[in-house]
Amino acid sequence: MESGLISVDRWKSGSQAYFLTHMHSDHTRGLSPNWSHAPLFCSRTTASLFPGFDLSLLRLVPLSSSWQSLSLRSPSSGSPVLLHFMAIDAHHCPGSVMFMFRGDFGCFLYTGDFRWECEDAAAEEARTTLVAAVNDFPVDILYLDNTYCNPIYTFPSRHVAANLIAHIILSHPSHDIVIGVDSLGKEDLLVHLSRILNIKIWVWPERLRTMHLLGFQDIFTTDTSLTRVRAVPRYSFSIQTLEGLNLMCPTIGIMPSGLPWLKTPFKGDANLSASLLTANNRRKPAAQQRELLLLQGAVHMFHDNMFSVNYSDHSCYQEIGEFINLVKPKSMKGIVVSSSCYVDPLYYFGRVCGASEPPELLLLRPDSREQFRAVRIKSYSTKDETINSQKEKWRKGDGHSSLRRNKKRRARIQVKCAKIADVD
Ligand SMILES: [Zn+2]
Repeated sequence: MESGLISVDRWKSGSQAYFLTHMHSDHTRGLSPNWSHAPLFCSRTTASLFPGFDLSLLRLVPLSSSWQSLSLRSPSSGSPVLLHFMAIDAHHCPGSVMFMFRGDFGCFLYTGDFRWECEDAAAEEARTTLVAAVNDFPVDILYLDNTYCNPIYTFPSRHVAANLIAHIILSHPSHDIVIGVDSLGKEDLLVHLSRILNIKIWVWPERLRTMHLLGFQDIFTTDTSLTRVRAVPRYSFSIQTLEGLNLMCPTIGIMPSGLPWLKTPFKGDANLSASLLTANNRRKPAAQQRELLLLQGAVHMFHDNMFSVNYSDHSCYQEIGEFINLVKPKSMKGIVVSSSCYVDPLYYFGRVCGASEPPELLLLRPDSREQFRAVRIKSYSTKDETINSQKEKWRKGDGHSSLRRNKKRRARIQVKCAKIADVD
C-alpha cells in the first residue's frame, strides 16, 4: 500500500486516516487528546476510554462482518483510492480489535495484540467472521502479534489460569493478596476472582475510573478496608514492595503474565498443592485431573511470597500457529519489536506462506553481557520435541537446514525472551 494513506497504531502526521487497535500505551505513543491530524477509527469501547478527545475526529467501527468503505486519494498521483476495512474482535483487552484492509493494493490483516482463544460465543463469532473474510479475500500480508511466537511459550486458556489464581488465593486465607495489572486489561480475571471469592477488588483511583467507564460499577473499590485482594499497578509490583508489605501483614503477590518471569521453577507449595488436590478434586474425571496438572505447570514461584501465573492476553505459540494456518497469508511480519531484538514469525511458520526456507532472525542491539548469559542458560535442549519437529519439517521441505545454523538461531531466539519483559 502506498504510504500516506493510512496508519495503524502509529501517530506521525502524513496519513489520511488513522486506525487504533486498542488503548495500551505501547500502541498509543504519540496520540493525545489534542489529536488533530485526521479521522481516527476505533471500536466503540476504545472510544469510550478517550476522555477529552475531539469527538469530531473519532469514527466508531462496528464489530461486524460487514465491510466499511473510505475514500482516500493517492498522495503521488492524486487519483482516488477506495479503502474497504473491517474490525474483528481481538480478545486482548476491552475494545481491542484487529483490522482487515482491502482495495486495489491487495488485502492486509493487522492483528494488533490478540489472544486467539475460541472458548466463548464472542470468540467463535470473531472466528467465523475472519474465516469468511479470508475465504473471500486472501490475505497478502499478515501483520502479526508475535509477542509469544516461540515454542517455549505454552500456557493455558485464561479461564483455566484464572481458576488457578483463585486456587492460590483460597489456599492463603490469612494473607493479603496483591495482583500486578496494567492500566487496562485483565478485567475478566478480576471480575472472575471477585465472583469466586465473593469479595470486592481494590484498585487505584485512576483504574477505578476506567472500570466505571467500562461499566463495572459494584465490583471494584478504592477502600482497602473492604477487601484483602488488591490489583496494583504492574510497575509497582516488585519483590522489594512485597517484602515491605510483609513487614506489616502477611502478603502474597501474583503476577498474571505469559512471560517467563520465574527465576525458580515451581516445586510445589504445600498450601497450593493442598488446595489443588483436595479430596474433591481427586474424585474428578481424568480430563479434569489433567487440567489440574496443567494448572500446576502454569504456576511459577520466584520468591517466597510471589507467584507468576501464565494468564496472558496474548496468544501463545500454539494459538499463533492455529491463527496463521487459518489465515494462510502470502506473507507476514511481526509487529512486536522489543528494545533489543525481534523474532520473525516466518522463522517458525514461513512454510504456511510458501517460504522455501526459514529467514534469519534479526538480532538488534544486544546491549548487555547479562543477555548473552541468559542465552546460554536458556538454550533449548535437544529433547525439545517442538523444535526438533520444526527442524525436521524444514529439513524435509527443502533440505537446506543445517543443525549448526539452527542451533545458532535457537540461541538468538532466547535473547528475545530475555528482553520483552515490558510486554503483556
Ligand atoms: Zn496490548
